[in-house]
Amino acid sequence: MKRVLILGSTGSIGEQALDVISRSDELGVAGLSASTGWERLLEQANENGIGLVALADAGAARSARGSGWKGEVLGGEEGIRELIARCEPDVVLNAIVGSAGLGPTIVALSEGIEVALANKESLVVGGELVMALSEAAEARIVPVDSEHSALHQLIRAEPVGAVERLVLTASGGPFRGRTDLRGISREQALAHPTWDMGGKISIDSATLMNKGLELIEAHHLFGLAYDDIDVVVHPQSLIHALIHIVDGSTLAHLGHPDMRVPIAYALHGPDRLELPVEALDLAAAGELTFEHPDTDTFACLRLAREAGEAGGTAPCVLNGANEVAVEAFLAGALPFAGIAEVVERVLDAMPATVPTHFEDLFRCDEEARVRATEALGAVASGAVSGNGRGVT
Ligand code: MG
Repeated sequence: MKRVLILGSTGSIGEQALDVISRSDELGVAGLSASTGWERLLEQANENGIGLVALADAGAARSARGSGWKGEVLGGEEGIRELIARCEPDVVLNAIVGSAGLGPTIVALSEGIEVALANKESLVVGGELVMALSEAAEARIVPVDSEHSALHQLIRAEPVGAVERLVLTASGGPFRGRTDLRGISREQALAHPTWDMGGKISIDSATLMNKGLELIEAHHLFGLAYDDIDVVVHPQSLIHALIHIVDGSTLAHLGHPDMRVPIAYALHGPDRLELPVEALDLAAAGELTFEHPDTDTFACLRLAREAGEAGGTAPCVLNGANEVAVEAFLAGALPFAGIAEVVERVLDAMPATVPTHFEDLFRCDEEARVRATEALGAVASGAVSGNGRGVT
């Protein structure tokens, strides 16, 4: 029995992971944590016979303790760390949203525990340091992100040196084809055409920042240069990734978009788990179409590639600024087109440096957030000019 600790169990990935685990005789739940959703967390704990949980939000932890629940509730970031150590999982499924997921990834790897990574920010922000820690601690990082799971499945069948290029597919989000991003509402941005996801990642998909973060994630996971990783827009979301082989072959991973597939592979692979996911009927799908991403309109993808190529702290800055900007957009305090502009301003203000310790990254993340918060006012008050592409 492989025991799984799910961090972020009340979110979209967490709920689907519990569904996957319930379908397998070889998987069990070791522990659960959430950010603020204590009521659902306690329900999940009861359903899975778990007596120890953690809530990252100290207030939510107090509410859970005051609810009369019989188990033990740990609170705050410290509580998440203690949970990882105390429930002795075989694998930590990190489905925390945002750079808050980096700390728990570091703790798990440091303890020599395998990480099934749905928190792409761990690699975007932590980059080389996280990969070096994984190697030093001999603790694997297995991707849960659908494109990276697809790449992982494709690449592992090939001998070293055979894979020349990677291709990440992008749905293009709800605004594919638009060349003006002004006047977009929160509801429009949250309505993703093919994937049903949480709020933050839905907005990142609409700006194409999500694909930018995935580009950086792929660079670290698979060790290819940015020049050797392409992004292609594929609105049907049926091909999740492709690899180009030195002999001219191209291999693709196809399937209906359902996150239980990559979650099951991360927890179960290379063995396959039977899932109630319909096999792909290509004739019924009809057409698979592809186009180049429009990085003039969707500047976040360009900014992410540039930050990745700059390396060092640049992806950390990109991510911190984006998290602040997306939160402001969701709160109605920033127009959609302002997200890229806030990110670009903060990147311009904070040139990349080389981090030598995780502390450098935590400080950098903090500074990026402060600067992004300062930039919000100016950008929201009409500094977004021209075609609304977020480029002044
Ligand atoms: Mg993805």
